Amino acid sequence: MSSPKNNTVKEDVILDQTLRPQKWEEYIGQELIKKNLKISIAAAQERNEPIDHVLFYGPAGLGKTTLAHIIAKELNAQMKVTSGPAIERVGDLASILTNLSPGDVLFVDEAHRLNKMIEEILYPAMESRSLDIIIGKGPSARSIQLELPPFTLIAATTRIALLSSPLRSRFAGGIFRLDFYSQEEIKKIILRSAKILGAEIKEDAANEIAQRSRFTPRIANNLLKRCRDYAQLYNKSVIDVQITKKTLELLEIDEIGLVSHDRQLLEILIDKFGGGPAGLQTLAAATTEEAETIEDVYEPYLIRVGFMERTPRGRVATRHAYNHLKKFDARKKNNPEEDAQKHLL
Ligand code: ADP
Repeated sequence: MSSPKNNTVKEDVILDQTLRPQKWEEYIGQELIKKNLKISIAAAQERNEPIDHVLFYGPAGLGKTTLAHIIAKELNAQMKVTSGPAIERVGDLASILTNLSPGDVLFVDEAHRLNKMIEEILYPAMESRSLDIIIGKGPSARSIQLELPPFTLIAATTRIALLSSPLRSRFAGGIFRLDFYSQEEIKKIILRSAKILGAEIKEDAANEIAQRSRFTPRIANNLLKRCRDYAQLYNKSVIDVQITKKTLELLEIDEIGLVSHDRQLLEILIDKFGGGPAGLQTLAAATTEEAETIEDVYEPYLIRVGFMERTPRGRVATRHAYNHLKKFDARKKNNPEEDAQKHLL
């Protein structure tokens, strides 16, 4: 029997697909990336060829997968979806590649998790559409070369630094960094999603959610859905600012979108390490979080809002973080530079 929690998860997956933009006009923001891609698509279509391979990188939930879907749709191509960790053996990749039809788009999510052996098979596949595989073992092993149909590889990663440079250099169609959205863009996304969900929302309520969405469309949509649940449960026909405030309070999301894990991370950095610098591994051990989670999930936003800095000696909490958490910054006391400034004033 499926539990209510499972049903909510299932419903969220279905809603994610419903809310996902299908065409350029619905994809808000990231203007320069859209412009570049539209040119590549138009030019390739004129030549009757698939577009060159492209790579998208940036924090989770910013719209990398959505872009891949739109590209495939614009090209009238079929999209096959896989991910770095799903391709474990050379045989897995060979089977995916040999099953592609001419013009197909192959989307590989979490590309930084492809193993080195797979990467090496990918290079010739991307460059010259040939697949070199070894069949059999020992003295009877032989190498065969298969020709692949023309295809476009679209890869996405949250951690571009982990991709080997030979792999990166094969994305001839471009390597695009998705940036956080502006609050105005997030608000537009919320209003569009509310319309699709059939939920009426007040302008200031949309602003309130936008302010706390970490400039990330996926989070904005999730918060909107939680506010809609709250409104429904309390028989409110319109999502207003009281509802958003109550919902976000229950979710422990503060006025700039920090969740309890962010605050805990900053508090440990401040209370245990005097504000830093503290190494990533040290912070991971102290917070019992995976270093990867800190780097991928918490840090990008904390850096974006100016609460944390990455220095060669480790992570440092900034004055803004102290102010936000209402902590006393003892570092200020012995800051000769600041003292000198005060003296001049
Ligand atoms: P990523 O692949 O970067 O983790 P997704 O492409 O899965 O992110 O985006 C998450 C959700 O956010 C999508 O389902 C979509 O509804 C929404 N979304 C992302 N980018 C945009 C955008 N530019 N405009 C409108 N909605 C967006």
